Amino acid sequence: MSVAVAQSVDAQQELTDGFHLVIDALKLNDINTIYAVPGIPISDLCRMAQGEGIRVISFRHEQNAGNAAAIAGYLTQKPGVCLTVSAPGFLNGLTALANATTNCFPMILISGSSEREIVDLQQGDYEEMDQLAIAKPLCKAAFRVLHAQDVGIGIARAIRAACSGRPGGVYLDLPAKFFSQIMTAEEGNKSLVKVIDAAPEQIPAPSAVKRALDVLKGAKRPLIILGKGASYAQVDDKIRELVEKTGIPFLPMSMAKGILPDTHPQSAGAARSTVLKDSDVVLLIGARLNWLLSHGKGKSWGSEPKKFIQIDIEPKEMDSNVEIVAPLVGDIGSCVSALLGGMDSKWAKAPADWTGAVNAKKEANIAKMAPKLMNNASPMNYHSALGALRDVIKERPDAILVNEGANTLDLARGIIDMYKPRKRLDVGTWGVMGIGMGFAVAAAVETGQPVLAVEGDSAFGFSGMEVETICRYNLPVCVVIFNNNGIYRGTDVNPTGGPDVAPMVFVKDARYDKMMEAFGGVGVHVTTPDELKRAVAAAMDSGKPTLINAVIDPAAGTESGNIGSLNPQSAVVRKK
Ligand code: ADP
Ligand code: MG
Repeated sequence: MSVAVAQSVDAQQELTDGFHLVIDALKLNDINTIYAVPGIPISDLCRMAQGEGIRVISFRHEQNAGNAAAIAGYLTQKPGVCLTVSAPGFLNGLTALANATTNCFPMILISGSSEREIVDLQQGDYEEMDQLAIAKPLCKAAFRVLHAQDVGIGIARAIRAACSGRPGGVYLDLPAKFFSQIMTAEEGNKSLVKVIDAAPEQIPAPSAVKRALDVLKGAKRPLIILGKGASYAQVDDKIRELVEKTGIPFLPMSMAKGILPDTHPQSAGAARSTVLKDSDVVLLIGARLNWLLSHGKGKSWGSEPKKFIQIDIEPKEMDSNVEIVAPLVGDIGSCVSALLGGMDSKWAKAPADWTGAVNAKKEANIAKMAPKLMNNASPMNYHSALGALRDVIKERPDAILVNEGANTLDLARGIIDMYKPRKRLDVGTWGVMGIGMGFAVAAAVETGQPVLAVEGDSAFGFSGMEVETICRYNLPVCVVIFNNNGIYRGTDVNPTGGPDVAPMVFVKDARYDKMMEAFGGVGVHVTTPDELKRAVAAAMDSGKPTLINAVIDPAAGTESGNIGSLNPQSAVVRKK
């Protein structure tokens, strides 16, 4: 518990205040790290939190602090906390909070705010903004604490809202006046709440389990799709047992790679289009049928109707895109256990003609890809550079891979195998750029493992200033920038011949490695896959903050990577 902040003259009673009560409430609930950008009115909160033993990681921009908090929540199942100043700081953090909510990551954004009386009369306070109202539609829950004696309950509600059911982002509004409100330490301590069982088990109904097993039993060409809900749940052994007992091919969504190794004999990652098209029964475990799975319909799902079984903690997720014939609502651990419990020893494995066909396709695809990954020519293309990084991760399966970009993302997802759960962190449900350095910092802070951030040059720009943060905290982060001089490609030209470069290109031959050197980190410039591999291996083994500028052929990328179909393009040619 915190010490008294002041002594009342007559009563000589120990006192506490809003600042200390926030810190005590977080500590009581085992929240020991805060991701922040200090300023009015939360500077003292940052200082005092550090003084009270909380690790305060201070960023250069709130969006990156927010992304760090969000991925800390994903990795630990405890809400990651981001602390910001009012109005603009809050808005910057809000993007990350909305992204956390979309991705089902537990996170709490705590922002200082201006005085209610002035904000509500719109009298023009410093950084005036009705933050609570703005946050509400963009997160799972939003609360405001006006009185010091309520902050224990406020933080307990925030934790429970973030973690229970489908996890998500919570906003907690703390007006400036709250922080210096004083009460006796005794009353203050009594007002704190320790959250018991923040994410209670949710057991599926036996009838729903039976329905799911009946559908699965009738399958001729079954498929299991694992999503990041499954990796978040941290029930890796149970999932492995279900997959291996049924013999069903599994397809991991991007951040679910590694729950079972990508090299597992039942992995269907390299036969993705075949299994989506040809399967007849699909068991979804913590994966939504959103745009990343073509909404469960259309060409990529083939012409035969599918039967979907879906495990999800959120009942409203069922039938969101197509009919779910066997909804299994509950937490993934309980649902998978219930399925296993309902399979007797005579449970038949997936038919051999189906698994054989999937394996044949997979092996053919892997063989086709192999030579592209081994080319050591300069300039590098995506395949040759990623082939090098793939080997580095293979040799260091505990390392965490952060990945964003367009081509850099799409191709790395397929090429770099993951071997352990929760080791791949990427752009997630929105496919958003800008998560890179925030995720990398939190991954290093929360796990202590070396982090490899593979970044498109454009993607890196959204959070690049945080290389200073990486150096300041001396984090074991190696950033590799796939530098092809621009967005998608570095070859666009201004059609008018005017002096401005095309909107999709950057400074030619930029040396991002010098940025890292500016802050005392290691910068390396490489032009071949061999050089890249050596530099990354050295960085990962030394643990020194490193940035590697990897020169990629400017003509190598494709427009919008794998999602070019989502990018409307004009077919009209104007007469000059
Ligand atoms: P991906 O992008 O990998 O397909 P999604 O984010 O679309 O993953 O889906 C994750 C799903 O997992 C969400 O629908 C969420 O409700 C669900 N989920 C998250 N945690 C749990 C849990 N512990 N138990 C059950 N479902 C969960
Ligand atoms: Mg680029």
